[in-house]
Amino acid sequence: MAGRSRLTSAYLLEGSEPTLVETGPTTSVEAVTEGLRSLGLGPDDLAHIVVTHIHLDHAGGVGRLSRHFSRALVWVHDRGAPHLADPRKLVASAGRVYGEEKLRSLFGPVDPVPSDRLRSVSEGDKIPLGERTLEVMYTPGHASHHIALVDASSGAVFTGDALGIHLPDVQVLRPATPPPDIDIELGVESIERIRARAESILLFSHFGPVREVDELCSIASSRLRKWADIVRHALDQTDDLDRITELLERATASEFDQAREAGMAIDMDRYETLSSMRMNASGLVRYWKKRAEAGR
Ligand SMILES: [Zn+2]
Repeated sequence: MAGRSRLTSAYLLEGSEPTLVETGPTTSVEAVTEGLRSLGLGPDDLAHIVVTHIHLDHAGGVGRLSRHFSRALVWVHDRGAPHLADPRKLVASAGRVYGEEKLRSLFGPVDPVPSDRLRSVSEGDKIPLGERTLEVMYTPGHASHHIALVDASSGAVFTGDALGIHLPDVQVLRPATPPPDIDIELGVESIERIRARAESILLFSHFGPVREVDELCSIASSRLRKWADIVRHALDQTDDLDRITELLERATASEFDQAREAGMAIDMDRYETLSSMRMNASGLVRYWKKRAEAGR
């Protein structure tokens, strides 16, 4: 993504109907196309593209890619589908979160997907890919339109951002709680459903496969709750987002201790690029304010 490696994964499911899971943003399209070509897949060969949600680091490139792979059907949760057909609202919303300059440099332009190529899915649907099937789990929390996908034959689960971000060379799971619709209760529920369903490995979008299903799901649930609590307490003291970000950062710094002690090279910049602390703090602030307004 944006010229950097190991930020966003795109997975190829081989078979009679080759399928790409996640595309990354438009700044990843060249790398993904080149990767597919090196595996022998030309413009006519890709049958399906499936995305876990429409955040631009996952699906920003799907419009551009679908033009190149002109036979591929594009599968997405039904709440996300209208925004892939007409991305203007999605781009405006991402612009509010990232700012215009970062939006352009990280993700590039966002092309629409032709409506006749879009397929909407929801909880329990099965996406037929020739001899393989992907089962759809509706997993809101990180986003209201988020799905996880179970590869029926292996029990591997594509987790999108449901568990957060886990970079393989650092091996620290960090929650991703961006605005506008992070929901802690739904997020924990989704993680627990993924834990119950995953039979082999978790396939993170950021980044790669992980075998420690139980361990990662436990960490994901408990950190999500812990981070939300930190921000709730911070809100008792201040409304200032810079200050809340600082408090969240300080209270969670020890989550990297183990990696530090193991002598791993910790590239915080990659975590920050994917979901910055300030963005996480602002998502959690918004979550608590919404709850307070709803009188929950
Ligand atoms: Zn996301």
